[in-house]
Order: sequence, then structure tokens, then C-alpha cells
Amino acid sequence: MTGEWRPGPQDRRVGIGWDSHRLVEGRDFILGGVKIESPVGLHGHSDADVLSHAITDAILGAAGLGDIGDHFPDTDAAYKGADSIQLLRTVLEHVRELGWEIDNVDSTVVAERPKLGPAKRAIQERLAEVLGVPAHAVGVKASTGEGLGFVGRGEGVAALAVAQLRGTSA
Ligand code: MG
Repeated sequence: MTGEWRPGPQDRRVGIGWDSHRLVEGRDFILGGVKIESPVGLHGHSDADVLSHAITDAILGAAGLGDIGDHFPDTDAAYKGADSIQLLRTVLEHVRELGWEIDNVDSTVVAERPKLGPAKRAIQERLAEVLGVPAHAVGVKASTGEGLGFVGRGEGVAALAVAQLRGTSA
């Protein structure tokens, strides 16, 4: 913990986040809070929104607050089927109480399927609304695995994100 220290307007912190989830049949495919038409979905204890998880971890990392598993353990039945956007909102509330605001977030989702291009704009706008920033402060990029590894074989989807926080005046 950081004790009594509070960030001032001159303070900036960056954090990174990474997550991956398995692709399975019979589950919804939710990315950045947006449901995407897909014959396969993401498997997990929560709604398995891999992008929201990576962004949440990036924000937690920037604030030195551990990781998403520390805050929302997947052994806790309370988070079964959880809406990951709500978990992100909870973390945002926490970092704001500590004197941080989101400067910007950038992200890349790595998936062989489904095709994410058509959904990128909707995801960007949804995340901007949740993060309380303009859409130009949220990057949502899509990449493929070029046939390599678990992503390339279509077994799962990965996401990575960075977040920059700025201190608000005390
Ligand atoms: Mg996850």
C-alpha cells in the first residue's frame, strides 16, 4: 500500500495486462462488454470477457494494486458468470478513490476466430463509456495468430492492454 501518498496532477503511471481464455461451444462471445455473433464463445468462471480482464489488470497494475485474481478470485462463487464490465467498474471506482483518473487505454485482441474487425468500433465506444474517457483515448486493435500456437489453432483468444493513469489534484 502507498500509505497517505496521493497522486497529484503531475503524476502518471502505466500498467500492462494480459489474459487468455479458451474457445468453446455453447458460450457467449463477449469482448469489451460487447456480445459478438460467433459459433464459439469464451470459457471461464465469469463471462470470460478476455479484453475487459486485460484492461482491468492494466489499471490495477498501474495503481500497484495487484491483479484481477486478488480482487475477484475465481474460487469465489460470487463471481460465477460475473459481468466483467461490472468488475472493471468496481476497479475504476477504487482507483478514483485513490486519486487516479484514466488517461488512456490501448489494447490488442489476438484471435483466429471470430473475425473481430466489424466489432472494433462498438467495443471502443462501449469501453470509452465505461472508462469515462473519449473514444479517442481507447485503442482496440485486432490481430490473428497466423496459424501459430493456441490462438492460431483457434483454441483460445488472448488480449493484452496498457493503461495510463493520471493523478487528480487533491
Ligand atoms: Mg480472464
